[in-house]
Amino acid sequence: MVAWWCHPKDMRIQDNTALHHASELTQSSKKPLVGLYLHCAADESWHGTSPARMDFMCEGLAIIQKELKELNIPFVFLECEDRRKIVPTAVDWMKEHKVSHVFSNYEYEIDEMRRDIKLVKQVGNDVHVSIYHDQTVVEPGTMLTGSGKPMKVFTPYFGKWLDIVKAEPELLDLRPDPKKQSDKIAKELKDLFGTKPPRPGKDKQFKDEEDRKRIRRLWPAGHKSGVKRMVAFLNQIKNYKATRSNPAKDSTSRLSAYFSAGMFSVREALQKVSDYNGGSSDFTEGRSKPGVYSWVREIVFRELYRQTTMTTPHTSMNLPQNLKFDFVQWEDDEEGWKKWYKGTTGEPFIDAGMRQLNHEAYMHNRLRMNVSSYLYCNLLLDYRRGERYFAETLIDWDLSNNTQGWEPSYTVFNPVSQAERNDPDGDYIRKWVPELKDVKGKAIFAPYERLSKEEFEKLGYPKPHVNWKQTKQRCMERFKNDMSGV
Ligand code: FAD
Repeated sequence: MVAWWCHPKDMRIQDNTALHHASELTQSSKKPLVGLYLHCAADESWHGTSPARMDFMCEGLAIIQKELKELNIPFVFLECEDRRKIVPTAVDWMKEHKVSHVFSNYEYEIDEMRRDIKLVKQVGNDVHVSIYHDQTVVEPGTMLTGSGKPMKVFTPYFGKWLDIVKAEPELLDLRPDPKKQSDKIAKELKDLFGTKPPRPGKDKQFKDEEDRKRIRRLWPAGHKSGVKRMVAFLNQIKNYKATRSNPAKDSTSRLSAYFSAGMFSVREALQKVSDYNGGSSDFTEGRSKPGVYSWVREIVFRELYRQTTMTTPHTSMNLPQNLKFDFVQWEDDEEGWKKWYKGTTGEPFIDAGMRQLNHEAYMHNRLRMNVSSYLYCNLLLDYRRGERYFAETLIDWDLSNNTQGWEPSYTVFNPVSQAERNDPDGDYIRKWVPELKDVKGKAIFAPYERLSKEEFEKLGYPKPHVNWKQTKQRCMERFKNDMSGV
């Protein structure tokens, strides 16, 4: 028997490298093919998986099971209580079912890389293991500097990436779908068709039914939904460069949840972009259609971050990429923490972002940059608390993008000027902070400072928890003192 081991970033049967190769082998060897998914609630709690993401993944798995059934391929779900038992549970099942080959795709986080190494060791010579790079267009670990080290700096990485993809358009070729198995094989495998997809555990359930309905409406699971979203986005990609930073325009693709669960591949997305670009994989600015270069640039951040996760494993072990930041003595402001996550800091742009996150399990990128800076620079709270809160709330949580998005830096965002520049009419703030919906003009960006005392008090909106200027100064001094000499 041949097994495709599907992982949580791998939730599609379309354009799936491991599944495609598994299916190829069964065609030539006439061996039966089975899909396998190992559900470990303890692993999800370890990573902080949000109820939104959990529900999204469970729905996605049910869709895959249905699609595979139409191809006479069973999709088997195994349960495992202890994350240390993931590999032994899979190996026992493989041995019991006389699996001769297992195919899967890489996940680049340290525990997942260790899982794959353990698998290879524990199956011994009985099972042939093939693991593929599938999450990116250009393979992580192959983009090196002149001195042979993995590239870490975005601009040269992006330049090289554009050259490679222009020269090798076949990198965007899709893997063919798995082939249908014969009815005879399906009959032999009949006992494997009945397992039920996992359901979210008690600690991963929505607080109420309304939340579940809303999130499902916003983020319908499955490959088809990803394709639909991509097609709709291509109709507006030409405006991406001009509007991508304005959260009120909501003009980005909102595909991150599909990419992070692997429901829709980046390869397929870029192939569609290439079709839109007149069949050309030259995505360079000026030589591609409007919007294409800017959107592909974001995709390439994602590609670089996978290389960074793979080549600097400490970034998936709760440590900053720049280890100096681990020497910063963070504050212990519990009131500030609660105000931050509830969206009641008194900084309208920050509060709007956090309220969007709590309502939609998603936040616009501009806001992610601002709320993270506010948490660790102005509140001086450990950035890892925010990183964890994002994991526990976002539908699109992705360790590489999240840890590298939260990587501390010396840039302190000013939420007032950021709002003035990126939400110039205040529409995003008005949408998410209804206390401010009737505030006119520039007062919306800093109501406490720009309205009279009486006008402000009528709003029922909190005054700023901290003074931005003073806390910026405190942050700069703290970073300088704590990191000097280390
Ligand atoms: P689009 O603008 O349409 O971009 C297309 C795709 O490119 C995205 O779907 C995403 O896969 C990738 N992308 C876009 N921006 C970035 C970026 N800055 N870094 C890396 N990849 C990017 N993204 C996640 O997918 N999961 C996370 O957990 C996550 N956490 C973040 C935390 C912080 C503090 C910050 C600053 C950013 C984080 N991002 C994360 C990156 C980015 O905010 C989201 O990918 C983006 O907002 C998703 O919206 P979209 O799909 O409409 O993006």
